[in-house]
Amino acid sequence: MRRPIIAGNWKMNKTISEAINLVNSLKRELYMIEDIEVVVCPPFTALTEVSEVIETSNIRLGAQNVFYEQEGAFTGEISPKMLKDVGCVYVIIGHSERRRYLGETDEIVNRKIKAALEQGLVPIVCIGESLEEREQGDTFEVVKTQMEKGFKGLRAEEVVKLVIAYEPIWAIGTGKTATPFQAEEVHRFIREQIEKVYGREVALLIRIQYGGSVKPGNIKELMEQEDIDGALVGGASLDSSSFIEIVKKAREGGLRG
Ligand code: PEP
Repeated sequence: MRRPIIAGNWKMNKTISEAINLVNSLKRELYMIEDIEVVVCPPFTALTEVSEVIETSNIRLGAQNVFYEQEGAFTGEISPKMLKDVGCVYVIIGHSERRRYLGETDEIVNRKIKAALEQGLVPIVCIGESLEEREQGDTFEVVKTQMEKGFKGLRAEEVVKLVIAYEPIWAIGTGKTATPFQAEEVHRFIREQIEKVYGREVALLIRIQYGGSVKPGNIKELMEQEDIDGALVGGASLDSSSFIEIVKKAREGGLRG
């Protein structure tokens, strides 16, 4: 069975002391939750301190980005080896904000996934269409291409380790959530594509999260969908009470036994 995963993407928010406060609250409130994997992705500057706070908890650490080389003359970049060293288990790759503002392409995403896997990190790979692409009826084609290029050269035993985050760009930070039907339709398509290329076992095991204005009020219904295995949460993960509620409600909707 797939273990649901709720990850908080803090983006470019939280000083070190704010990050420690937030994660301490999460630790206090979520210590008893074991059947859902809870991940926090603070900015690089707070990874060390957050790592120390969650060391004795069931909360896992993720980073928001990584470079595709392990070391060398790449000023300003952070390698998979460094993320591993600081205690990261997960790393978000290919977030639409990086694709949009920082020119991240599917080819770069592919190199980053491979470099992260090499260090035993679990990539949370973001894919999803823009509003224009959806309105033109290109959603499935866009997602398929992102997967084909992003996963190029990966073996089935590597793909099964990934978490895919389906994040329709029009729903990120906009308050517009995809309906459970819209989200499930794309999640099912993603799983079918995985099955075609990597086989049934990989398709049954791989976890696919939804992301895009997830809130306490919509998570349960999303999690009730068969192919939705969790959420990547942006804005609502910055406030401890809303993130805690999201995790608890996800549990109500998402444990299929
Ligand atoms: C995200 O950053 O991945 C995201 C989904 O943001 P938000 O929840 O704020 O839409």
